[in-house]
Amino acid sequence: MQLRYSFRLYPNGPQRSALARAFGCARVVYNDALRTREDARAAGLPFVSSGVLSKALTEAKKTEARSWLGEVSAVVLQQSLRDLDTAYRNFFDGLKGKRPRTGPPRFKSRKDNRQAIRFTANARWSITTGGDLSLPKIGDVRVKWSRALPSVPSTVTVVKDAAGRYFCSFVVETDPATDLTRMPQTQAVVGIDLGLTHFAILSDGRKIDSPKFLRRAEKKLKRAQQSLSRKAKGSKNRDKARIKVARAHGRVADARREFHHQLSTELIRDNQAVAVENLAVKALARTRMAKSVHDAGWSQFVTMLEYKAARYGRAFHRIGRFEPTSQVCCVCGVKDGPKALNVREWTCGACGTVLDRDINAAVNVVKAAGLAVSACRAQVRPVLVPAQRDEAGTRPNAAPSVRSAEGIAVL
Ligand SMILES: [Zn+2]
Repeated sequence: MQLRYSFRLYPNGPQRSALARAFGCARVVYNDALRTREDARAAGLPFVSSGVLSKALTEAKKTEARSWLGEVSAVVLQQSLRDLDTAYRNFFDGLKGKRPRTGPPRFKSRKDNRQAIRFTANARWSITTGGDLSLPKIGDVRVKWSRALPSVPSTVTVVKDAAGRYFCSFVVETDPATDLTRMPQTQAVVGIDLGLTHFAILSDGRKIDSPKFLRRAEKKLKRAQQSLSRKAKGSKNRDKARIKVARAHGRVADARREFHHQLSTELIRDNQAVAVENLAVKALARTRMAKSVHDAGWSQFVTMLEYKAARYGRAFHRIGRFEPTSQVCCVCGVKDGPKALNVREWTCGACGTVLDRDINAAVNVVKAAGLAVSACRAQVRPVLVPAQRDEAGTRPNAAPSVRSAEGIAVL
């Protein structure tokens, strides 16, 4: 399986300048190529091929106006052209219905939140014996290696985020055989209901809330945003406040990803099969629940569950939205119709069980996946278990848990 590993980079002053130059050059090359293609389209000419763009780049370097492109690794510039090709391919595939629709490629700006450049093996980048990341025409940059790479990557992407932090990220191949031995088989299965009152409710009756470190980061972000709104437009203080907000945003995103990693790793480690209700996130987002849906970041969490299940040989089930998980009694299976959102608990008219709305839904999710729940203890009112306590039991080395600019995605 291919996984993305990201690590924090700490470039010094001259390296930051060199990186800024590289980001800028990559952006100019991208924008020049995009303009060439857009002009051709406006003139009714055929699509300009990558080969032609590549030759145009070589020619441009010889001109006075673009001579400074020579100060940057040629590979970075070529990769920028590749990125444009990918953006076009995604756009065309979207039009053909081969993938979700995306807009046409857009011009990049120095004000974009994320700046990135890529070095392939051709660029001769390397990891020095001292553990620095050696980048051509930039230098040996200090890296904080938060965990070991499972294999040697051939490509590195260097990213600067909105908060001004630098990261390097690698796509590496993991060994499926070692992955499987790291998580022994179990008999347990779990159904997960992603709720609005809690982050997640498990079919064993546990209700999981976001941990304290995440809530603290969110509070800080809110304070930073309030402070920003009080600053006069165009003032120096407003600029400072904006940077603070961006940093706080970054910390919230990191904390949330960390929480999702811990919880998904724990669930995958402890269960042989995991069932989750399919998120029609977009459908939900149209309602007034939108904010809470986005904040909870469920889709990031479900994506992690899915790839970790694949990596460690667990079954992963997605239950369709059409299953009325809150309308059916999880004990006797009698469907007694929809209930208003404020009804958190009711007694089943058929079997007399007192049902907790969320837990009932989680048990129904696991049943809908065709998995047997050992005991339906769920209807007994559960004790509220804070997520942190369980996280203390997770083994940080059991699965990827890393601060990253882009998160770990299955590629
Ligand atoms: Zn019943």
